[in-house]
Amino acid sequence: MSKFTIAIHGGAGTISKKNMTPEKEAAYLKALNDAINAGYKILEKNGDALEAVKASVTELENNILFNAGKGSVFTNTGTHEMDASIMDGRDLSAGAVAAVKNIRNPVELAYTVMKKSEHVFLIGNGAEEFARQQGIAFERDDYFYSEFRYKQLQKARNANETALDHDINLSDDKKFGTVGAVACDANGNLAAATSTGGMTNKQWGRVGDSPIIGAGTYANNKTCAISCTGHGEPFIKAVTAYDVSCLMEYKGLSLEDAMDIVVNSKLMKIDGDGGMIGVDAKGNAALIFNSEGMYRGFASSDGSREILIYK
Ligand code: ASP
Repeated sequence: MSKFTIAIHGGAGTISKKNMTPEKEAAYLKALNDAINAGYKILEKNGDALEAVKASVTELENNILFNAGKGSVFTNTGTHEMDASIMDGRDLSAGAVAAVKNIRNPVELAYTVMKKSEHVFLIGNGAEEFARQQGIAFERDDYFYSEFRYKQLQKARNANETALDHDINLSDDKKFGTVGAVACDANGNLAAATSTGGMTNKQWGRVGDSPIIGAGTYANNKTCAISCTGHGEPFIKAVTAYDVSCLMEYKGLSLEDAMDIVVNSKLMKIDGDGGMIGVDAKGNAALIFNSEGMYRGFASSDGSREILIYK
């Protein structure tokens, strides 16, 4: 049995201590801790990395604090359209969904696409039809409603812009984000998952990097598992998650060096604000971002454990 590790994120952005109350901070730290535990429990019982990342992301999707599942931001027309993906580093199998409405746990649907369909990526009505056939849980619109996110939409509409969830300056309610998890299990298998409501006030079926294999999510036992968060468009252009894997595979870089180049150099050059979490097949974790903060944490079987918010 080798070292196992789980790392998670709850989004990156303009997250600073001065805008945080002690109560809010405590709520975030607890939520991150719960999400780590959900995945860690599985790894501890010699479970698969794939099941661990699904469990951690599901936990985060069920928490209103984060922009995924229940806490998803509003689109321009006042709906919630969610994106998610999951990838298994053992054989590169992957599942993804985009622009799905009323799905309780989009990561579960992405997992089911991977396991129960012949496809990798389903969108919109088709993905929802598949979800019904597979008995995936749906929720009514009011499950996804929250007053503070509705205010974020009004603000973004008034400013006529699309905004990262955590970049909307709405007093102390402004910092919430896309979620993700990466894991290395005791057998050295890697997996990654990412889930999001996207960007506040998004229009015309806009989809970001989160459900795109290679951009927001990637896992390959040969190299790493990566989950990204940030401004999706630059992350898509940079094929961000896969680029880390390429730097490791073709140039022999370590996980941390590869992530550092991608986040602090390549993405910065194209205004790619945000960050990512990664693990390699030895159970090393790295959590790197170029924004003010990123909700993040990891736990390893060697006893190391960290939960952090700011730089
Ligand atoms: N990357 C996500 C998107 O562009 C947003 C985020 O990470 O918060 O949809």
